[in-house]
This record gives sequence, structure tokens and C-alpha cells, in this order.
Amino acid sequence: MAISDLYSTEDFERKYTYLGPDLGARWSKDSTAFRLWAPTAKSVTVCLYRSGDPDAQDAVGRIPMKRAVAGTWTTDADGDLNGVYYTYLVELEDRVNEVCDPYAVTTGVNGQRAMVLDLSSTDPQDWDHDAPPHAGLPATDAVIYELHIRDLSTDPASGIVNKGKFLGLTETGTATPDGIPTGLDHIKGLGITHLHLLPSYDYGSVDETKLDVPQFNWGYDPVNFNVPEGSYATDPYHGEVRVKEMKQMIKTLHENGISVVMDVVYNHVYEAKDFCFNRIVPDYFSRTKSGAYSNGSGCGNDTASERSMVRKYIVDSVKYWADEYHIDGFRFDLVGLLDVQTINEIVATVHQSHPDVIFYGEGWTMPTDLTKPDVLMATQTNSHLTPGFAYFSDTLRDLLRGYVFDDHARGYIAGEPADPNLVAKCFMGCPDWCPEPSQTVNYASCHDNMSLFDRLTVSTPEDTVADRIRMNCLSAAMVMTSQGIPFFQAGEELLRSKPRGDGSFEHNSYRSPDSLNQIKWNDLSRPEYAKVADYYRGLIALRKAHPTLRLPTADQVRQQVFPLAGLPANVTGFHLRGSVDDSAQGLIVLFNPNRTAAAVSLPQGKWNVVVNADFAGTAPLAIAEGSVEVAPISAMVLTLEPLTVGTDDKNNRIPLLLGGIAAAAAAIGGTVAYLNRKKKKDN
Ligand code: CA
Repeated sequence: MAISDLYSTEDFERKYTYLGPDLGARWSKDSTAFRLWAPTAKSVTVCLYRSGDPDAQDAVGRIPMKRAVAGTWTTDADGDLNGVYYTYLVELEDRVNEVCDPYAVTTGVNGQRAMVLDLSSTDPQDWDHDAPPHAGLPATDAVIYELHIRDLSTDPASGIVNKGKFLGLTETGTATPDGIPTGLDHIKGLGITHLHLLPSYDYGSVDETKLDVPQFNWGYDPVNFNVPEGSYATDPYHGEVRVKEMKQMIKTLHENGISVVMDVVYNHVYEAKDFCFNRIVPDYFSRTKSGAYSNGSGCGNDTASERSMVRKYIVDSVKYWADEYHIDGFRFDLVGLLDVQTINEIVATVHQSHPDVIFYGEGWTMPTDLTKPDVLMATQTNSHLTPGFAYFSDTLRDLLRGYVFDDHARGYIAGEPADPNLVAKCFMGCPDWCPEPSQTVNYASCHDNMSLFDRLTVSTPEDTVADRIRMNCLSAAMVMTSQGIPFFQAGEELLRSKPRGDGSFEHNSYRSPDSLNQIKWNDLSRPEYAKVADYYRGLIALRKAHPTLRLPTADQVRQQVFPLAGLPANVTGFHLRGSVDDSAQGLIVLFNPNRTAAAVSLPQGKWNVVVNADFAGTAPLAIAEGSVEVAPISAMVLTLEPLTVGTDDKNNRIPLLLGGIAAAAAAIGGTVAYLNRKKKKDN
């Protein structure tokens, strides 16, 4: 029997599960305590070095470790080791491996040697007073913007000094040559709440010793899970610099009211055979079958999250980022390869001290060779088993832009006929798979696949650019008014495109050059592009102004959101009953993907048009009464502001509102469900 077949047995887990909080190197002024989990090792030695360069012959000491509880090895090193690099020399049955510490808090260049670090010395000023910008708000209040660190700043027109660096996100007052704000100022101006950063932990595909040569990678190839990526630091050689600069970035973003989400890739590693954990305890971290790595991820290996010490490792790692770096959210890559128990332990553990942290991931169902029976995976279809965790809604994405794996397929925004029930489901938080709106991430574009605008260009060749811009804005309106958590790829608001230069568009730019990936800030000088950015800004402001657009529970959605019946073909619309804390008594949201205008009857009342084909926001653009015309390929949002009766507005709101609903139902033939709800409420 291979040793790897024993790892998932009850016997092995009973003997060798270590639950202590002290794995890794714990620095203090007088000594550093090391603890490594290596149950199958014959001996372990700590090797100390002057530098983090794996090729430098600069050893400064070796300390043998002693066997301790539950398969761990420990030793204490006297003196102040802050800044000293180290590795573990692990003697196995048939070989000796020198490895980095899986619990390393930082490393030297390219992540080969860990470094002992006094973490408090890396804290920015007033780090103790740093607080989550969105404390106490439900996940459905988040508006997420997905960004690669380099994409923000590498365009010369960004005006950002620290190009491609963490520090690029700390620069304010940056602008294009035309004086248009870029970088952090642009993001802040959009009004998003959460900035989601593509992998920022140490990954392997960029050589940190060759940063003068053009290199780009998304970074879905983890090497050290608890260490910031060196190529994003101004100095990848000195381990403390990347820690300091990443913390400074987070601190600055927090000061600007922006929460930070980290993209984490626990489902696989860069090279399974080279991954330090697998070289300490042979192939413990990865799922294997008959000696081969399971490859559901398509990246060469899958993480065996169902094993007790892998689970602990992942839980510890996420907790560490939340505790030490004040990370406000985690996006899990291919979370469908991780098990439900691990995800629930992560959420529970982090929420103990950080109740506002949000969690979401790619819950696609994928084949993988599990090492234990009866393990349930954190997939979209199992979302009811992970209540604190949200999943990307491919339901909405594919409705909007068309089937993901057919670039020429057209979606609803391009006028493709859609089942109104499907549109309603998407608008109401995908109740058929999503138990609560806080568990669906609504989006039309992310780093994967073509950008939204490229997809429109490819799938609607007969349409004009102007019409595609309208489709793009219709998409944004649907994402931003649907129940759930809205999300979009950085640059979607300026019609981001990834042209290959031969008339085609890149759908997988994971290692394409900066020139293809970067946000092109000068596009904001083009009036039609600037107008789209304004439209996004307005939609976000609208969403933030109306709690009714971000209901936290499915019950509230059922009680307050009603599809409109009797609309022209392929036009969809919804009547939302205003929440008690909403300034509006009600909202009407209409989507018209047709090439012709659509006339829609309105419920009784004077309705403020706040979103139309050209503008979005909170201020009335027009007053509509009786009926309204929705322009071709556009969305419209109308609000009904409360009538002022006497001085006590709150007490008068509900009866007025219900009167409005009855009138609405009469005027537009509201659905049966709608009337039943109302009746229930009256009783
Ligand atoms: Ca790296």
C-alpha cells in the first residue's frame, strides 16, 4: 500500500492531526519557535541563511528539530532572527528534501527560502486603527470590481508611478494626459465597495529575478499561499518589503472607503511535485489515484481539502490573511474542487473575529478523484450546504451574453429571445439554485473569457458600435438592479477590449502582454466611452440609494419583487415594493433588448425616470404617468417617491404603498402571485 493511500484513513488522521495555532516560525525578540507538521519524516533540520536567494552559499546555522505531538517537529532558536531566511531539510524514507515552509509569512526572491519576520514591524502607521470600510453591511450591499494589479497601472497614460506594483494602488491624484482621473481615483469615483484583486499571494509563473523583462501572468499558480507576490513589490529580494507594501495598499484602499477581496487559489498548486507541502509529506496536499495526480482543475493537480491537515492549512491561511492583512473578502478559484466542510470551517472561523468578511467562488461541478467517500463539494448546486458562501451566477451571465463556450452565441442583451421566467429568476436572485440573494454573484464579465464588449463585437457583427454600447449598458443595468451581489471586470465600464491585433479577440489573456491586458485610460477621452463610465457610476449610485435593489433575504425578494405581465415580446419588467428604509415607495425596472421602442403601462402615480438609454443615476430625468416608452436596446428604471401626508411620513407609507400596488395590479394586470402576496399582506 502506498503511503499516500494511508493519509485519508481514520487511523492516520487520529494519530496525526495537529490542531495547534503555532505551525511555522513564531518570532520574538529573544527567540524564534519553529513547528513543522511532517509525520512521515525520519528527521527534520532548520537551515538558516543570510539571504533569500536559493543559490547563495550563505548558510548561517543548522538546528535539528525534535519529534513532538501529532506528527509535528519543533525547535527554538535563540536570539533575534528577524530577517533571517530559513528552509527545512526533511529526511524521508528514500530522499532528503530541502523545502520552504508552507506556513512561511514571507520569502526571498521567487519564494524558495522562507524568512523569519517580526510582523509588527511591517504594519503601516495606525494599522491598529484600520477598520473594515463596510462593517455591519449585508453582502448584498457589496458592489465588486475585479482587477489585476498590473492592469491598473501599466498603461503609460495611467500617470501612475509604481507601475504593476501594490503601491500603484496607493497613488491618488493620478490622471491621463487629458487630465482625466485614473487608478485609485477612478475606482473610488465609480462608487464600488469591494475591490477584488486577482491572485496577490506568491505565484510561480513570473520570474521575480527578471522584472526588467516584460512578464505578465494572472497568477493562478500558487507557490506560497501566505506570502504576497514578489513581482508586485518594489523589491522582491527582501522579504519584509512585499509584506509592508501589500499592507500599505490595503490601508490606503480602506482609507478611501474600499474593501479588499483576495482571489485565492487553494484548489491547486503551480507544480504538485515541487510544492513544499508535497515534498515534506509526499503528495499529502494533492489528490492522487494510482500514483497520478487528479486533474479536475485542468491545472495538473487538485488539492485534497478533505484531508485533516490540508483542511486546517486552508482554514489557517484564510484566517491569517483576514487577521494580518485585514482582507475583507475572499474569492475562491474553482471552489467546486473543495469540500463543503472545509468551506464552512473557513467561514465560521473567519467570521468569529471578522463578521463582515464576504466569501464567494466558482462553484462549477468538476470531476476529481476524492480520497475519502461521501465528501460533498462546494458547488453551486450544493449552495444550500454553505450558507455563508456565494457563487458566481453563470445563469445570469449566459442569459445576458449567451452560452459561455460559444463566442458567437448571442444573449438577451443582443436581442436573443429569452424565456421571461428565466429573466425573472435571474432578476430575483436565481432561487432555483440559490437559497438567499447573498449567495449569488451577478455578473456579465470577469477575467475569464472575452470581455463583454469583445463578446458583443463578435456575436453581433451586423450591429453598429453605438448599438453594442447600448447592449453593454443594458447588461450593466441588469447586473446592477438584480437581487444578489453585483460584480464586474475592471474596465467593463470603459468598454474594455483585448484585441489580438488580427481582428480577433483574446478570451484567455492569462499570459498575454501588458499591452493587451492593461486598462487603456485614454479611452476615457472618447466621449462615448466616458458616457459608459458615467452610466456605470450612475447605476452604482442608484443601487446604493435604494435598499430595495439589494434585499438581503429570499423572503423579502418574494414579498417585494414582482414580474410585470403583459409586456411586449421579449421585453421584461419588474415592480419592486419599496423597503421601509427606502426613499422610494416603489421601483419599476424595465429591460428592452429589441431594436424597436417598447410602450409599457405604468401603475398609478407620478414616476421619476432615473435610468434610461442614455443616463443612469438617482436624479429624475423625466416624470412619467400612465405609460412610458422604453427606447430600443435599453433599460429603464423608475421610482415612485412617497407622497407627503402630514408630517409623519413613515406611518403613512405602508397604506399608500399598498394602495399603489393595488392600482398597479389593476393597471398592468399584475400576476396572480403578485395579487396573492398582496392579499396575504393585507390579511
Ligand atoms: Ca512569485
